[in-house]
Amino acid sequence: MPRTDRPRILTGDQPTGRLHIGHWVGTLENRVRLQDEYDCYFLIANMHAFTTRAAEPEAIRRDTLDLVKDWLAAGIDPERSTLVLQTEIPAIAELTWFLAMLLPVNRVLRNPTLRAELEAKGLGDSYSFGFPLYTVGQCADILAFRAELVPVGADQVAHVEMCREVARRFAHVYCGVAPTTPDADYERAGGVFPVPEAMVGRVGRLVGIDGVRKMSKTMDNAIYLSDTTAQIRAKVARLHTGRQATTDPGDIANPLFQYVRAFLTDPDRIRTLEDRYARGDAIGDGSIKAEVAAAIDALVAPIRERRAAYDGARGDAAILELLRAHTARANQVANRTAELARAAMKLDFARPG
Ligand code: ATP
Ligand code: MG
Repeated sequence: MPRTDRPRILTGDQPTGRLHIGHWVGTLENRVRLQDEYDCYFLIANMHAFTTRAAEPEAIRRDTLDLVKDWLAAGIDPERSTLVLQTEIPAIAELTWFLAMLLPVNRVLRNPTLRAELEAKGLGDSYSFGFPLYTVGQCADILAFRAELVPVGADQVAHVEMCREVARRFAHVYCGVAPTTPDADYERAGGVFPVPEAMVGRVGRLVGIDGVRKMSKTMDNAIYLSDTTAQIRAKVARLHTGRQATTDPGDIANPLFQYVRAFLTDPDRIRTLEDRYARGDAIGDGSIKAEVAAAIDALVAPIRERRAAYDGARGDAAILELLRAHTARANQVANRTAELARAAMKLDFARPG
């Protein structure tokens, strides 16, 4: 059992496909690193996967298991951290309702990340009612675990901001906490929830291999943590820079150089490449791409190897067993939160807090 006297982290991913190197630099590497310092809860947002794929339950189930396999392979340690399967935590659904009452509908629809996702996913006007609701559900995910820190990529900061707002509002309306209370003091002042903070990784938004959009599981522009060496090479080679000759001065703000800075590990080498590229000092894109691909391969090779251990039916069975055990652990915390919230809302009729 993990030690529970540390501050809590809650963060997670949607089971919409395999994890990629954008996840690594945006949040996963922080999660792996913070497992000793924090009591960590890592959530599989399988309910949210239904917002866009309601008719694909089997695919969502498969992606749920795949996501956990990717996590374990990447270094999430089930001895120290707790895996949270969203649909097994009734308190999250209950809190989603409570919080939805405290958020004006226009506030939810104005969320810039929500708007960007609607556009990027081509959902137009035909998205489900559940789609914008997921942003409220995400507030409930975080608050159900009374988390203080939320390691995420830059696109999620707007969601965490909404969560902070609703955490404060709950405290003002139901817990008698004064609006002038500093964020760090909400629990001490009698609030049920801490006001959580986002922590953005070392690259908040890694661009995809299309060179334009955020690398995403669902945009066909990702280098996956499970890709082979050959796949990685081929994908990096596809990055377009528009450069013609090895003596053309290059733009070190381009996507290729974002990858150089994100994945090469030697700072001197990065500086040398930037300097030579900017001057067009007889340096070809091909050789830089080969270096980037090798660096990415070195990062994902051990992950890929550990991941292979979970292939097949035995791997699936092991993951299901783990999820069962962790669900019990997670519900202990989340049920307690729901009790506290119900008591604050004068709803402790049958189940006093
Ligand atoms: P989808 O296409 O289904 O939205 P995704 O690739 O955007 O998938 P999410 O599950 O939405 O992945 O995000 C999981 C976490 O990874 C979030 O904290 C998000 O901010 C972070 N993240 C996702 N993509 C990137 C990226 N390209 N760069 C940095 N962080 C990222
Ligand atoms: Mg996303």
